[in-house]
Amino acid sequence: MNRSAEVIVVGGGVIGSAVAFELARRSVDVLLVDKTLPGRATSASAGGLWPVGEAVGMGCGIIHHQSHSPSEGLNDALLLPTSFRDFLTQSNSYFPELAQELNEFGGMDIEYEPGAGLMFLFFTEEEKQFGHLIVDRMPPEVRPQILSPTEAREVEPCLTNDLLGAARLAEEHQVNPMWLAEGYKRAAINLGARFRHETRVAKLCRSGERIVGIEFEDEQLFSDMVVNAAGAWAGTLASTADLRLPIFPVRGQIVLTQSVPHILNACLSNSGCYILQKKHGEVLIGSTTENAGFDVSVTPESITHLVSAAVRTLPCLREVGIKRVWSGLRPGTQDELPILGPMEGVAGYMNATGGFRTGVVASPLTGRVIAQQITGESLDFPLECFLAERFAPVQKTVRI
Ligand SMILES: Cc1cc2nc3c(=O)[nH]c(=O)nc-3n(C[C@H](O)[C@H](O)[C@H](O)COP(=O)(O)OP(=O)(O)OC[C@H]3O[C@@H](n4cnc5c(N)ncnc54)[C@H](O)[C@@H]3O)c2cc1C
Repeated sequence: MNRSAEVIVVGGGVIGSAVAFELARRSVDVLLVDKTLPGRATSASAGGLWPVGEAVGMGCGIIHHQSHSPSEGLNDALLLPTSFRDFLTQSNSYFPELAQELNEFGGMDIEYEPGAGLMFLFFTEEEKQFGHLIVDRMPPEVRPQILSPTEAREVEPCLTNDLLGAARLAEEHQVNPMWLAEGYKRAAINLGARFRHETRVAKLCRSGERIVGIEFEDEQLFSDMVVNAAGAWAGTLASTADLRLPIFPVRGQIVLTQSVPHILNACLSNSGCYILQKKHGEVLIGSTTENAGFDVSVTPESITHLVSAAVRTLPCLREVGIKRVWSGLRPGTQDELPILGPMEGVAGYMNATGGFRTGVVASPLTGRVIAQQITGESLDFPLECFLAERFAPVQKTVRI
């Protein structure tokens, strides 16, 4: 068997590209293979870097929760494990340095923009109580600041008067997710990685208990390690080698307005939508979380819902035209945590998927730990809670 590369990474979204970058900077011979499929998450993302906001349900999580279990009301069931919050916070802390590195190695400006943070807005008493409940549970180093309506409008003068206050996470910012993925990729290539674009991997090649490479239409490529970074399609890819990977697509629809003069200092979120102003003035309004399989349609009902929630938050948006709407497929998991690292019982294979609604902010640390795991370095963050084995089917008791 002729080896084509030490490591083959399947999937050139933000995760696969980050892994390729971290491997290439360690002088590993890496081949990144990607086919841009409709709905690829990275191209659809908002680019919010909200590690604590997402881990405690003050970002897109609250929209998800409200659309799936509105009858349960708002409660601390929205809190994800502290280990995950720590993982995201650590990953987020790399962005200032990463922005410089990707400029230096990849020639890309990832539009990392420290602003006034993420403000979760309270419109109802229930939302206010939820905000306080969450804030009270958090350790001082990550605890949001509670703002009165007046204080919130001092940060964001365009906010509606119809507001009961806000929780502000000062260190939560944004990037351009497409430039981020492109930056990782270009930097990886400049550091020696190879890239096969518009090539769909048909299957993983398995020999006994080892993954030995990949196969496309009429070609096989062999490697010591294959990284599955195929996003929402990672489960389909894994199944070609009889591996069970419980990843499913979660559709998110988004609206982008025409460019307007600077109206937002922070990223905003509430239980109906989140709102960011991008570098060139467009206002991005996101996003639904729907189980619609691999259907990437955009629906009038969801777009109307997002736009109404945004106009309620920022009445000045009423006058602004819509430039574009789209949807993307998040790689979802049942417990909303990623699936990272090796898999029991199979050598030569590594998962790097399940980024769900935080894959962009998680990408710097994901790239590092996957590369470290492959090269045998000590890990910047332990992977135990992200291993695929946590979903292993419960053994049924056999009654005799
Ligand atoms: C609407 C929306 C808003 C979001 N907002 C945010 C946000 O604000 N902040 C945040 O952190 N995260 C956000 N996310 C989540 C984030 O975008 C994802 O977690 C992240 O992009 C996942 O990256 P990925 O590389 O795993 O997957 P993808 O970006 O989907 O990349 C996977 C790649 O693999 C390719 N591929 C699949 N199968 C094969 C195959 N067999 N052969 C070759 N190539 C293949 C796909 O076409 C794709 O190019 C958002 C997601 C959506 C949909």
